[in-house]
Amino acid sequence: MSDLKYKRIVLKLSGEALAGNQGFGINPPVIKKIAEEVKDIYDLGIQIAIVVGGGNMWRGIAGSQMGMERTQADYIGMLATIMNGLALQDNLESLNVPTRVQTSIEMRQIAEPYIRRKAVRHLEKNRVVIFSGGTGNPYFSTDTTSALRAAEIHADAILMAKNGVDGIYSDDPNKNPNAVKYDELTQMDIINKGLKVMDSTASTLSMDNSIPLVVFNLNKSGNIKKVVQGEHIGTTVKG
Ligand code: UDP
Repeated sequence: MSDLKYKRIVLKLSGEALAGNQGFGINPPVIKKIAEEVKDIYDLGIQIAIVVGGGNMWRGIAGSQMGMERTQADYIGMLATIMNGLALQDNLESLNVPTRVQTSIEMRQIAEPYIRRKAVRHLEKNRVVIFSGGTGNPYFSTDTTSALRAAEIHADAILMAKNGVDGIYSDDPNKNPNAVKYDELTQMDIINKGLKVMDSTASTLSMDNSIPLVVFNLNKSGNIKKVVQGEHIGTTVKG
């Protein structure tokens, strides 16, 4: 365990990460690959909590822009994150990684309700805990959920796995060839520069609770392991 930089992490997986190139839904080979990478760090003895997004299926803001009541649209988004959580659990368990899904909105037949003390106990017993359903509140995001759960379980860091982007850039590197990558930032920099990393609620919550954030490319094999072993990849954001 001595070569590990972080012992307890929150891994934030966006819904899009599960969709792969198809951009929508869950891509079975892609989610399997992610589960394998999680297993790699599980085998190192890291305590892993995962927050899954739902953007591969539904975003509340998009629903509301099409005329739906925002709260109702957000509940659909929260349900999407639960579907992703169950798919992730299935993939991890097929690799013999013990997991528990906890939902912020009760759904007892399929998952445990979110109970902080139980989540921590699962982590101590080396079970991967998947937090789904976001915060359980509309108008929030799963980025904010990551910051909230990381604070609650006293995680050492949030690992934000991005789809195809190596870290935080001054601009969208896919659109602007002059965009520069940052190695280190603070949450205040993100807010002041208006960088699109996490929403401002998530940034301020991380900052107020001094939770470090590492943003890195999920599409490069072994990257999650590199981060927990302290290799400097991506962008590190001081809490
Ligand atoms: N959501 C919500 N409250 C939360 C977390 C998520 O209402 O605490 C809804 C919201 O509609 C959001 C959707 O769930 O658009 C999917 O989550 P998110 O957009 O964060 O997923 P990601 O971008 O990470 O895939």
